[in-house]
Amino acid sequence: MVRFVLLGAAALHATVVLSALTAQSLPARDEELRLVKTSEDDAGTWMTEEQKFEQLTSKGIHFADITDTMASLPPLSGPLFERRIPPFEKVEGNQEWSKIQELDTLRADRLASAVEKRATFPSGASHQSEANPLIARLSQSNLQTWTNALANFYNRYYKGTYAATSAQWMYDTARSAASANSAITVKQFSHSYNQPSVIAAIPGTSGEVVVVSAHYDSVGTSTSGRAPGADDNASGVVVVLEALRVLAEAKFKPANTLEFHFYSGEEGGLQGSRGVMQSYARSGVKVLAVMNQDMTGYSPNNVIAVYTDYVDAGLTSYLQKLVPVYTQLKVATDRCGYACSDHGSARDAGYPVAYVCDEVMADSSPYIHSANDAVSTLSFPHMLQHAKLTVGFLVEGSYF
Ligand SMILES: [Zn+2]
Repeated sequence: MVRFVLLGAAALHATVVLSALTAQSLPARDEELRLVKTSEDDAGTWMTEEQKFEQLTSKGIHFADITDTMASLPPLSGPLFERRIPPFEKVEGNQEWSKIQELDTLRADRLASAVEKRATFPSGASHQSEANPLIARLSQSNLQTWTNALANFYNRYYKGTYAATSAQWMYDTARSAASANSAITVKQFSHSYNQPSVIAAIPGTSGEVVVVSAHYDSVGTSTSGRAPGADDNASGVVVVLEALRVLAEAKFKPANTLEFHFYSGEEGGLQGSRGVMQSYARSGVKVLAVMNQDMTGYSPNNVIAVYTDYVDAGLTSYLQKLVPVYTQLKVATDRCGYACSDHGSARDAGYPVAYVCDEVMADSSPYIHSANDAVSTLSFPHMLQHAKLTVGFLVEGSYF
């Protein structure tokens, strides 16, 4: 019989765990187990960080690591829930464990239905006269400068040597992009690993929120290897940064609060976005729409790809209508499966989300997750088109 020892929210509960385990059964730090899901129906599999990389990341299998967020959903009362406070043990075939898993599913369902959703979006663009002058101020050279800076990190692996320094760059650069408008807040959102996500917000008056997002961590062919992550996903980050800069310098005053999310830990199983979105759902933040971008700079077909699975259908078709209004590119559509990027986290939290990318799956960059995901493979004019769409979406979304 294989016996697993769980270290749930490991950092927070380290002291409790240490006192509860004998020295003999204490796993080494790198043997901590993580609960990962590879499909929506998957109850999850426990594996080490290294197993996650070898069995999933390196094979291109998408997954969500729910270890840090499974306990953050609204609590159910009762003895089973109380037992979930770490440390606790899983023994294979344990009936109680199965019940706990079922409760997790129930709580997730309840959470999704509890979050207020907007069923419909506008029939099309209606604020071009406001958006177009802002779009005209987008700078391709800013996209280039920031992309080079991100790609110059040896890697931005969320548990690696450069996790903290890349996070500091992300925070400093978002602050700099937002600096023209003192009303904008820029905050770090902490996780269980040493790479906070970064959230910039242009406060509105409605009490509701529209989000654009991109992850800034990267991964190579090993967890410590070279990973410039130029297309995946410096390209998405700089598009969101440039949209922030333009709206900040214009002192844009939205009705809905506009948020710019730069997530960490995406390559470790959507962890940054899960942390943020589960926290928002728990505290009742009213998110009207999320537009996630992961890869914007490699597009042999010169399209903007809007993905149609694990997203909100209404928001997705609305975004498809914005593409020809705010860009010079055609829309392509495709599906990328469970947990293919951070939109999965918004969806799990019950928020309407769309996913925009630079290509369909078959023609997407062959270089991602390797040392070859280099700046030289990118088209900055293509990324500028994504920035135009982003500003168009934010101006339209400020009125949702
Ligand atoms: Zn990515």
